Parts: sequence; C-alpha cells; structure tokens
Amino acid sequence: MYPKLIIDLKKLKGNLDAVANITKDQGGCSLMIVTKGLCADPQMVQMVAAHEKVDFLADSRVKNLASYAEVVRKQGKMTVLLRLPMHSEIAEVVKHVDLSFNSELSTIRLLNEEAGKQGKKHKILLMIDLGDLREGLFYQNEDVILRAVEEILQMANIELYGIGVNLTCYGAIIPKNDNLSNLTALAEKIEKAHSIKLNMVSGGNSSSIYLIEKGELPEGINNLRLGEAFLLGNDTAYGAKLPGTTGDALILEAQIIELQEKPSLPIGEVGVDAFGQKPYYEDRGIIKRAIIGIGKQDTELDSMTPLDEKIEILGGSSDHTILDVTKSDTAYQVGDILRFELGYGGMLKTATSPYVEKEYVK
Ligand SMILES: *Cc1c(COP(=O)(O)O)cnc(C)c1O
Repeated sequence: MYPKLIIDLKKLKGNLDAVANITKDQGGCSLMIVTKGLCADPQMVQMVAAHEKVDFLADSRVKNLASYAEVVRKQGKMTVLLRLPMHSEIAEVVKHVDLSFNSELSTIRLLNEEAGKQGKKHKILLMIDLGDLREGLFYQNEDVILRAVEEILQMANIELYGIGVNLTCYGAIIPKNDNLSNLTALAEKIEKAHSIKLNMVSGGNSSSIYLIEKGELPEGINNLRLGEAFLLGNDTAYGAKLPGTTGDALILEAQIIELQEKPSLPIGEVGVDAFGQKPYYEDRGIIKRAIIGIGKQDTELDSMTPLDEKIEILGGSSDHTILDVTKSDTAYQVGDILRFELGYGGMLKTATSPYVEKEYVK
C-alpha cells in the first residue's frame, strides 16, 4: 500500500554514530536525541535507546514519551519533555517524564505537588530565552531568574537539573559563542548565588552542533539536543550536511494514479484554491502531468525532493499532488512509484499521517 515512508534503520544508526561522535567525543557534551520529527517511531526509538552514546531521549509530546518511557528507562536512560507542560497534563508528565523543560513557576508548583503524590522527585530544566523569543525566562531579567531558582530549590519534590536555551526555532536566531556565553554566565551566577552545581547547561538543538567543529562552543555548555541532525543529517544553522551523515535514511514513496497530457495553464476565471490561496501558473504549453496519491493532509509539498531530478512538483490539494514529468528520462505509467527525499516538514507530516504506511530497512 502507498504512500509509504521507508525508514532505513541502518542509515539512521550511521547518522547517530556520526552526530554522537561530534557531540560527545569532540564536543564533550551529553547527547539528547529528539524523537518528535519521526513521531517517536518505535523501531527508531528502540535503536536510539540501545545506542551506548545516547544519554537522553526527548520529545515535545507527552503521548510520545509515554509510548517509550519503559524502553528508555530499561536502558538506564532518561525521558525528557521538551515542550513546557500544560497544566492539564501534569499527572502524565510526572508519570512518564524524568526531566521536563519549564519556564513558569505556576506549572513547576503543580509538578512539585503531583510528584509528592506519586512519591517521586521530578527533574526540571529551567528554560532561558536568549532572544529567539519562544519559551524561557528572558536572560536580561536576572533577578527574576534568580528568584525563580530560589523558589524551585525550596520545593521538596523538584530537582533543578539545569538550565537550557532553544534557538533557531521561532526567531531563527543562530547560536554563536557570544549569545551562548550569556547562558553559561547565567549558570555560573546561579551556582554561585545558591552554592549549587547544575548538572546540565543545554546549549540548543541541531543548529548548535556546528559550533563544536569550529571550536566555538562555550566551555560551560555540556549538552545538545539533536533531532534533525540525527534524522536528516542537517546542520540547521547554515543548512550544511554534517560529516558522516546521509539525508536519505527516510524516503517517501507514492503511486501515480493519473498520467495525462494537458495544458499547464488552468482554463477559466482564477479564484482561490482548496486552501484559500490564489495560485500562480507558468505557461509551459502542453505537459505530461502525473498525479500521485498523496496530498497536503499527509505531507508538505515544498519539503519533498523527487529522486528523479527531472521531475518537478507543480502543486496539489489535500489528497493529490501534481507533478510535471515531461522532461524525465523515464517513461512513467499509471501505477509506477515515485520516490522523494524529505525535509523537516515533509518528514514530520508523513511520519504523523495515519494514511502513510511505514516500511523498515534493517
Ligand atoms: C524540537 C526541539 C529540539 C530539536 O530540534 P532539532 O532542530 O530537530 O534538533 C530541541 N529542543 C527543543 C526545545 C525542541 O523543541
């Protein structure tokens, strides 16, 4: 059945070896692998949890973490919740998550209460916003941060495991030695003010790994959290491929359901498409148009790259994707399979869609 996501576990393992090498052996950081990009696929998780260099498995969704907490804990590793907990999921967080990222005292108080009920000590990482302007206490408000730390340290069932930052997600800010140094300086201030030692100073996601190779990761950063670098081999700061990784561990396959020669310009008055957008069409005369059985409900069209480089994606709607196959050297027919490499958005959506089958290469 198609569409199908081919997950090559050997290639993923190769990517993991490569990023572990850079992050741990070269960078001296602990390694947190982020599973949300592939919707916490169980076979991928199994491979990651068994990898000797992986210290933590992280996801943004409690449901995903609940699905694999047992597997991860059996390997003596921790589960990590990357997205700030909702007040409505506190019990599940304390149950399935060993370390959660937080920036709101009201939420941390609820975690403390619930951890007491469950007879546990719950670890938290306090998020600091260095300017990307998504989650975290704003780094310039040092007194606010120090007061928050003071209250957290008094909570009986909460352990302040460390602090961390997220960059290049909303504000697209690139991690550098200078902005990350604000985090390490803050860590030192917290440690001094409260005579404590923070276990973790987490310096970001796949956009921070390039700093290790440049020798510019600040001394005090001792953890990175890698999703895209592992799954697709991408350094997301500048879009380069990381050495030793491959971008084709995940391949999407879809089947041609119509193949006909038609004009390239629609005929009649142009309104808006199925998503309320006014489309633009280029007149290429009569072209060979293939329709494949996958659409915007299952994938992101501009996050797919055909392996046949002479094919071009023209567009699509919820359930259809239309391609120009005029220039291809292959004489495609209805029923043929087209293959695509994926970007982050394409990977995320195909892995999440219940309409996309999964197949593994082991
Ligand atoms: C998604 C996420 C990551 C992983 O990001 P990648 O770019 O895939 O490495 C790390 N940290 C947080 C807080 C996240 O939300």
